[in-house]
Amino acid sequence: MLTIDNLQATVADKPILKGLSLQINAGEVHAIMGPNGAGKSTLGYTLGGRPGYEVTGGTATFNGEDLFGLEPHERAAAGLFLGFQYPVEIPGVSFVQFLRESLNAQRKSRGDAPLSGGEFLKLARTQAALLKMDMEMLKRPVNVGFSGGEKKRAEMVQMGILDPKLAILDETDSGLDIDALRIVGDGINGIMRRPDKAVLLITHYQRLLDYVKPDFVHVLAGGRIVRTGGPELALELEEHGYEAVAA
Ligand code: ADP
Ligand code: MG
Ligand code: MG
Repeated sequence: MLTIDNLQATVADKPILKGLSLQINAGEVHAIMGPNGAGKSTLGYTLGGRPGYEVTGGTATFNGEDLFGLEPHERAAAGLFLGFQYPVEIPGVSFVQFLRESLNAQRKSRGDAPLSGGEFLKLARTQAALLKMDMEMLKRPVNVGFSGGEKKRAEMVQMGILDPKLAILDETDSGLDIDALRIVGDGINGIMRRPDKAVLLITHYQRLLDYVKPDFVHVLAGGRIVRTGGPELALELEEHGYEAVAA
């Protein structure tokens, strides 16, 4: 589904990714772990096409297409979803309105007709219920006054509605209490644990991985993947720290 080969990227002219290679197949969940400042978020933003994150070498192929040849909205329409460490607030736009417009924009790029208001609300209700999110909450402006946990749950509702092929989730567990962590973990499993989908979890801690079991765990350090293992690698990192494991 996603093949990254020798990716090099700079942020503000500073080289951050220095030859990163990774392959993710349909049906797989991968976790990328690494110390603060290793470039984990940079990887997510670079794949998503955020301005300021410049690819200086290497390739990424997403479902057979050259990912870096696509505009950010085309990447989304092709089935790439990016969950952010710090979800943005959009005062003046309700979450339902935002979700409906995002979905219909993606449908349009794929040549599909927009969903009617009624069809959309039915879909939104189903997805909100999965994340135990009150629909009233989604009538409020995007993320304004939401707690950390509510923002992450709302983001998972968004993911459920957009129904991506590949979700890259950056520190989705940050700021979640135990109950919210379980709800978000169940949401990720329910939406994405399918043979035709894949997930890349970017996380500093192993606790989300108790809920969303990865098939592969990678350690990112110095701008590259320095180690790959199974779920046990996350436990080893938690116990011994990145320096011991990644050295
Ligand atoms: P991680 O997510 O692994 O903690 P990041 O990808 O956020 O790491 O950051 C990697 C490096 O890039 C850090 O040294 C960080 O300071 C730097 N960096 C990230 N964003 C910017 C930016 N907008 N301008 C300058 N440096 C940045
Ligand atoms: Mg960080
Ligand atoms: Mg980060």
